[in-house]
Formats: sequence, structure tokens, C-alpha cells
Amino acid sequence: AKENGRGLVEVFDVDASTRSRDRLDIRSDLQRALERNQLSVHYQPIWALDSGEIVSFEALVRWHHPERGPIGPDVFIPFAEETGAIVEIGRWVMAQACRQLVSWQQRFPGRPLGINVNVSPAQLRRPEVAADLLAAIRDTGVEPADVWLEVTEHSYVHDDVTQWATALRASGAHFALDDFGTSYCSLAYLKRFPIEGLKIDRSFVSGMVDGSADRSIVRAVLAIAESLDLRVVAEGIETEEQREMLIELGCRTGQGYLMSRPVTADEATALLIPVQGS
Ligand code: C2E
Ligand code: CA
Ligand code: CA
Ligand code: CA
Repeated sequence: AKENGRGLVEVFDVDASTRSRDRLDIRSDLQRALERNQLSVHYQPIWALDSGEIVSFEALVRWHHPERGPIGPDVFIPFAEETGAIVEIGRWVMAQACRQLVSWQQRFPGRPLGINVNVSPAQLRRPEVAADLLAAIRDTGVEPADVWLEVTEHSYVHDDVTQWATALRASGAHFALDDFGTSYCSLAYLKRFPIEGLKIDRSFVSGMVDGSADRSIVRAVLAIAESLDLRVVAEGIETEEQREMLIELGCRTGQGYLMSRPVTADEATALLIPVQGS
């Protein structure tokens, strides 16, 4: 047994060396994943909860490792941030997602449709990377106003980020604060940065039906959004009860497994085709 940094005793992990070798492998494999076409973008629809229309799609990156199989972004994005691979991956996801939106808009003209793209703190921290993101948006010919950049609250820790956030905002693209409510400084961000939307974290949505605290938080978030004129998307809707309660509380848009998991571009296209006879 050995002591860890917090003074707690951990049982010695026999797998530790295997695991750290694994991590090295993942790191170096990730550098090549893009050029080897192992990454893809999946799309999860964001719905108008009352009408049941799709209003946007959230782009979520996927990695199909040749030996390990699928590796989730929760696992590899932190490595990508650490190694800097996130810069190229992020630019690629942005271009891919914007191009996909343009193709949907051409196929379904007149239908209001947006795209939500996750942007990590590491992408906003460096000015040249933010400029690059802007170029990726412009190159695809997408209307920047249809693009929502989802940022986590930590993205805004540095002051120099604000300048880039402002430049991106000036292009017409929008910012939404992801996982809203999970960090203690959420409210301060709303004042200091050009935020126009909030995503209610899944943890509140899942606790909402049985827990009065979570329900109060959701209600408070909706009230804040209303008074600051922010768009709200509820994340992680898994049950009909959750969907109904959100509508009742006045939340107009949401996403979750109840309606659809993240799917391939082709599957997403099929979701946009109106059902015959309805
Ligand atoms: P996120 O931005 O909070 O994305 C929502 C996550 O919740 C996605 O997981 C999505 O598949 C999952 N989800 C959606 N609906 C439900 C539901 O009803 N129930 C449950 N249990 N889960 C649901 P995913 O795709 O594994 O992505 C995980 C995280 O990885 C994302 O969290 C985001 O922070 C990050 N990520 C994904 N793609 C990108 C990307 O292109 N760039 C960056 N920087 N980060 C990304
Ligand atoms: Ca997100
Ligand atoms: Ca989220
Ligand atoms: Ca999350």
C-alpha cells in the first residue's frame, strides 16, 4: 500500500504499469488517428420539446481504434488536450460539422437548423487556434449564426480568452455554456462573457423527477435564462416523465436518449425526412 497526495492510503495497483503503458499508446495513437481516418462525427438531435421538431444537432466526435474498438471522447479528449492534438481534431470536427449542416440545409431548404460544436478550453486559450476555428467556419460557407459553440465554464478562466470569444461572437457564431450549474462560478461567467445559451447538465435532469433540490435548480436555471434572454437546452433526457416535467417548467428544447442517441450523419438525415402521411 502507498499513500497518495491527499494522505489517503491506496492498495498498490498491480495494473498500474500496464495502465500507464496503455496511456502512452493512446497518446501516440491519437496523434495519428485523424490522418488514418479513425475519427468520425456523430450527431445527436436537439428537439423543440413541444412540437417535436429537430432544431439543431450536437456534433460528438468518435474514435474507432483498430485494436481497442471504440474509445469514447470522455476518455480521449483529455489526452488530446494534453498533447495538443485537440487543435487539429477540433478544427476537423468543426469543419466536418459545418459542412454537414450546409448539406442538410441544402437538402431541406427553409427548415431552420443549427449545429452545436463542443470547443474545449485548450482550443480557446490560444489566439491562433480560435482564429483557426473561425477560418474553419468561414471556409465551409455555413451561416455563422447557425453555429453554436459549446464551451465549459473552465474555458473562460483566462482573460485573453475573452478577446477571442468576442471575436468569434462578432462573426455571428453563438456561445452556449455546457454542463451549466456544475461549477461554482457559472453565474459570474454569464456577466463577463458573450454567452447566449445554457445547457442544463444531465445530472439535474436525471435527479429532477424524484428530487426537489434538482427540480428547484432546473427551475432557477430557467428563470435566470428567461431574465437574461438566454436559450436553454436540457441535456440527457431519458424518460417521458423528465420530458413532460421540463415542458411544464417552461424548458423548450432538449436532447437525450429518449428521443435519440447520437447517430451517424446518414441516420441523422433520415430523422429529418418527414414521416409520410403526417
Ligand atoms: P457533453 O458535451 O456534455 O456531451 C453530452 C454527452 O452525453 C455525450 O457523450 C452524449 O452522447 C451523452 N448523452 C446524450 N444524451 C444522453 C442521455 O440521455 N443519457 C446519457 N447517459 N448520456 C447522454 P459523449 O458523446 O460520450 O461525449 C462526452 C463528452 O466528450 C462531451 O460531453 C464533450 O465534453 C466531449 N466531446 C465530445 N465530442 C467532442 C468534440 O468534438 N470536441 C470536444 N472538445 N469535446 C468533445
Ligand atoms: Ca456539449
Ligand atoms: Ca454537456
Ligand atoms: Ca458533460
